[in-house]
Amino acid sequence: MSTAACLCPIHWRGLYTLIEGTRYEVIPSPVDTATSLLFRAWCAGCGTEYTHPFRTSAARSQAA
Ligand SMILES: [Zn+2]
Repeated sequence: MSTAACLCPIHWRGLYTLIEGTRYEVIPSPVDTATSLLFRAWCAGCGTEYTHPFRTSAARSQAA
C-alpha cells in the first residue's frame, strides 16, 4: 500500500477535480464513475491526490 494519505485532521473532507480548467467539488464514491475514470481529484486542504473512486456532487446535477 503506497497510496499517499491525506494530511488533514478530517481525511478527505473536501475533494475537488479539474475538468477542462474548471474546478468542481467531488465526493468519495464506492465505485468508479465516468468522472473518476477520466479525471484526477485532490484534497482541497492539503493537495494530496485522491486515488480512490469519486463522483461529482449531486447538488449541481440533481433537483431536490
Ligand atoms: Zn487533506
